[in-house]
Amino acid sequence: MPPNSEVVEFGPKVSDTTGVLYEMDAEPEGTAKDLSTLKTTDGRKLELVWMNIVLFIYVHTASLYGIWLLLTAIKWQTFVFSVILFLFSAVGISGGAHRLWAHRTYKANLPLRLILLFFNTLAFQDAVYNWSRDHRLHHKYSETDADPYNSRRGWFFSHIGWLCCKKHPNVTAKGKLIDLSDLRRDPLVMFQKKHYLILMPICCFLLPTLVPVYFWGESLSVAWHVPALLRWCLVLNGVWLLNSSAHLYGKRPYDQSISPTNQSFLIWLRMGEGYHNYHHVFPWDYKSAEMGHFSQDLTTNFIKTFARLGWAYDLKSVSLDMVQKRVLRTGDGTHPIWGWGDKDHPQQDIDSTTITHKKKIK
Ligand SMILES: [Zn+2]
Ligand SMILES: [Zn+2]
Repeated sequence: MPPNSEVVEFGPKVSDTTGVLYEMDAEPEGTAKDLSTLKTTDGRKLELVWMNIVLFIYVHTASLYGIWLLLTAIKWQTFVFSVILFLFSAVGISGGAHRLWAHRTYKANLPLRLILLFFNTLAFQDAVYNWSRDHRLHHKYSETDADPYNSRRGWFFSHIGWLCCKKHPNVTAKGKLIDLSDLRRDPLVMFQKKHYLILMPICCFLLPTLVPVYFWGESLSVAWHVPALLRWCLVLNGVWLLNSSAHLYGKRPYDQSISPTNQSFLIWLRMGEGYHNYHHVFPWDYKSAEMGHFSQDLTTNFIKTFARLGWAYDLKSVSLDMVQKRVLRTGDGTHPIWGWGDKDHPQQDIDSTTITHKKKIK
């Protein structure tokens, strides 16, 4: 039996035309195929996963109580601790699972991989191995039934609903075919996968709860509800927003034929993953954003700092020339001009610009 015979009903065309994993995948403007015929949400009955549903209801309700405790009862040390844990967890997903392991946008030495793996386990979004497999599917089969968080199934499904029901058969079938050999060769990734059910509860729940109680006498309730649950819940929703909102609302300056968008709201958060349209066009860029002021986010600066130490290396990026060509070819026209002298700068804006301190002509 040929290896891909189990996905024959899905058809090879889907993998050829959806998701712009590489520059050459993009089709010239005007000849882009209508992907709607390839994108189905076939109306099959959902098989709900009640354990996850109950867990998510509890976590969100408890996090609301955590907000109340944050405003009324928390010790300042616990507040600082929670913020630090939040940032570590976010970097563990964006700098670790996402940019290092899922997309291989850079390489990291053993100590940095250990740090990122610890940060990642703090964030409890499943083992890096599984997260990366799902995320590679998301990029390769974007907006189809083989995309685990297919935004064609609506905001709720792509945000949290996909975790509340069993995977679509196409996700399972394509997941078996996606190349994960690089992850299998990484002993740290495989160690985390093997011992996840021990490591995750220690990192994500026990440590954040026990440290404040033991070291500065925080109440058990505050420690459980704020640095453990509320912090976890915020990171979860932050990442989920990239799968939901950043595939539905916003601008598409780099490629208007795909659904991922650049989201001003997520960009404002500055965790570095808000340029989702850019990221789906150039997923190998370690910045997940264009050069210049676009890439001043926490994750990029984290990687750059470790690159200066030599712990992160082989950082892959995209030249401005390549970005500009792509913007002109497939963008939706919303890419901002780079500055004074940009040929796309509207003449009326140039005419009405005030220039002061002009050089005196003798
Ligand atoms: Zn990605
Ligand atoms: Zn996406």
